[in-house]
This record gives sequence, C-alpha cells and structure tokens, in this order.
Amino acid sequence: MIDKCPGSLMSSEYAKQLGAKLRAIRTQQGLSLHGVEEKSQGRWKAVVVGSYERGDRAVTVQRLAELADFYGVPVQELLPGTTPGGAAEPPPKLVLDLERLAHVPAEKAGPLQRYAATIQSQRGDYNGKVLSIRQDDLRTLAVIYDQSPSVLTEQLISWGVLGADARRAVQHEDV
Ligand code: C2E
Ligand code: C2E
Repeated sequence: MIDKCPGSLMSSEYAKQLGAKLRAIRTQQGLSLHGVEEKSQGRWKAVVVGSYERGDRAVTVQRLAELADFYGVPVQELLPGTTPGGAAEPPPKLVLDLERLAHVPAEKAGPLQRYAATIQSQRGDYNGKVLSIRQDDLRTLAVIYDQSPSVLTEQLISWGVLGADARRAVQHEDV
C-alpha cells in the first residue's frame, strides 16, 4: 500500500475491483504496463497505472475518464459491477434429450415433442439424440404449457429432458 489517498471515498475493496477491471481492459488490448506508458508517450506512467490496477492507489473520476478515453472504452465499462457482458456468466445451453423425451407419455410431452420435431425439420437436423433450443423457445413452450418458465423447466428436468443447469436460464424470472 503506497498512497491511500486520504481525500478519497473509495473503499479498498472497491479500488481492488476497479483495478481488476482496468487490468482486464489493458490485457485485452495486449498492452503491458510499459506498453501503456509508451503508447501514451509518458502521459500514463507504468507505476501509476500498475498501482491503480492493484487497488493501491485511488483514482479520481477525472483520471478514470481520461484513462477510459485512452483505452477507447466507455467509462462505465471500467466501473465494478456494471458491465452487462464481461464477467457475467453466459446463459446455460438448453439441450433437449430427445431419447428421454420419446419415453415421456405423449399426454404430457406431446406439445414439446411436436415443437422439437418442427425445429428438427426446419433445421433439417435429424441426429435424433439431442436438440439445442433457443432461450426464447423455453418461453414459447411455457405459454403453450400454460405454466411459468421456471415451473416448466422443473418439469422438464424431472423428466430428464433438460439438465439441472437449465434452471439458470429462468432463475431471474417470476414464478
Ligand atoms: P432463422 O432464424 O432466420 O435462422 C437462419 C439460419 O441462421 C439458421 O438456419 C441457422 O443456420 C442460423 N442460426 C440462427 N440462429 C442460430 C443460432 O442460435 N445458432 C446457430 N448455430 N445458428 C443459428 P437453420 O438452422 O436452417 O434454421 C432455419 C430456420 O428454422 C430459422 O431461421 C428459424 O426460423 C427456424 N429455427 C431453427 N431452429 C430454431 C429454434 O431452435 N427455435 C426457433 N424458434 N426457430 C428455429
Ligand atoms: P449457439 O449456436 O451456440 O448460439 C448461442 C447463442 O448465440 C444463441 O442463443 C443466440 O443468442 C446467439 N446466436 C448464435 N447464432 C445466432 C444467429 O445467427 N442469430 C442470432 N440472432 N443469434 C445468434 P439461443 O438463441 O438461445 O440458441 C441456443 C442454441 O440453440 C444455439 O447455440 C444453437 O445450438 C441452437 N439454435 C438456435 N437457433 C438455431 C437455428 O436457427 N439453427 C440451428 N442450427 N441451431 C439453432
């Protein structure tokens, strides 16, 4: 810890998260700390940027905006907890097990069996064992089954037609 920047309101945890973002952006651009110093013709010193990245030194809003400008990214991309992409986990793949589906009684699984058959025929995909479907298809199926997406997902998991990680696809939806 070099400079705790007494006037700053940044907690050290926040400064660390901010620093991790700064480092991620820099490395995505294939720049070393010295590369930053060179590219900015000495405007951004490697030791200073390095201490921002470790969260050792608090960065002012103005300096952060200038650094965002240097990296060519919107400043909000550098703020912890605000990026829609990046650290966020991708949604799970929804892969229907067609062999299991064929064994579920038609009075329950009929609509899903027909839906899956339509997708197979639209794609011309008849591997017959598994079928990846769109996230949107789960919502459409929930309407067809007159259930919420999460209740339907539980049902499909209990039939063995979807894997348990499919829950993540609907976990933020209202039941
Ligand atoms: P489309 O939606 O206009 O998609 C045209 C083509 O773009 C697809 O041809 C496929 O080659 C590609 N494509 C679109 N979205 C994806 C995707 O998420 N992943 C991959 N890997 N490729 C994608 P394809 O497969 O012959 O499908 C023809 C049409 O059949 C699609 O036209 C769409 O209308 C329908 N379709 C196919 N699969 C699905 C599905 O899972 N759900 C729904 N709702 N419709 C589907
Ligand atoms: P995937 O091919 O790995 O695609 C993952 C996600 O990338 C898709 O999620 C979609 O959000 C996006 N994506 C990929 N290709 C396209 C495209 O051509 N157009 C658009 N608008 N978005 C695209 P999603 O929609 O939930 O689909 C999940 C999986 O379902 C896909 O994984 C793929 O395996 C299958 N799939 C969906 N639609 C089609 C299709 O039309 N044709 C084929 N062959 N497969 C599809």
